[in-house]
Amino acid sequence: MPVANYEQYCEMLEKAREGRYAYPAINVTSTSTVNAAIKAFADAKSDGIIQVSTGGGKFASGQGVGDMALGAISLAQHVHLVAEKYDILVALHTDHCHPQYIESFLLPLIEETEKRRAKGLPNLFNSHMFDGSELPLDKNMALSKDLLERCAKSQIILEVETGVVGGEEDGVNNEDTPADKLYTTSEEMVQVAETLGPVGTFMYAATFGNVHGVYKPGNVKLRPEILKNGQEAVTSKLGEKNKHYLVFHGGSGSELSEIHETLDYGVIKMNIDTDTQYAYTRPVVDHMMKN
Ligand SMILES: [Zn+2]
Repeated sequence: MPVANYEQYCEMLEKAREGRYAYPAINVTSTSTVNAAIKAFADAKSDGIIQVSTGGGKFASGQGVGDMALGAISLAQHVHLVAEKYDILVALHTDHCHPQYIESFLLPLIEETEKRRAKGLPNLFNSHMFDGSELPLDKNMALSKDLLERCAKSQIILEVETGVVGGEEDGVNNEDTPADKLYTTSEEMVQVAETLGPVGTFMYAATFGNVHGVYKPGNVKLRPEILKNGQEAVTSKLGEKNKHYLVFHGGSGSELSEIHETLDYGVIKMNIDTDTQYAYTRPVVDHMMKN
């Protein structure tokens, strides 16, 4: 099927929240990892999300070019071509865009979709993440709001983040983050809903002790009740329709029971990067060694 359009993507998210499940959002860096992810969705008879990080985009453009937006565009075009061959829905997303990459990553990708829509073509990406979690909340929300206003005009969903996901990913190291910053507060979750709810459709990476990278089960102090309390604060103040679409980052190494618990609190997208990097590279190494 063609890559999901806005209505289909919204329906995917709504069904997931109602049905208490989350889509796998797989980070890709090459056409072969795209192909593997989509085949796995199809084998599981599941719709899914393919996502590209700034580092993944840069890698995909090749060392001689090193353009993170160009590499992401290239991978997205590949997804548009191969997704047609499968009978599941695929949505396209970009991962963490920190404030310093707005100009070189996020804006060129939004512009690409704007250009395509002006010609009557479908969006290149369905959604993008802006990660302003390193900024003070007011500044983060002001930037998120501006970006969502622009995205909404082109039926692009924006993912935002408050709090900090611990660990290390894509060269961003949050291993020394003070523990209290790893947990979003209910007040923050309400403020995000109040600021962005009237502007457009968005997803939200609220942090609850989640950490990027692989950790032995039990090493990560996940507190899913943070999400529960936050969603309750949002719905009691703003009503059920303002309940967040939550995103779970850094799930590698988490207990299945904890992952399941977060689904009850509105997690509809679960990012998977480290685990699939291992799933991809280990058999390659194994084959090389054996043969
Ligand atoms: Zn993440």
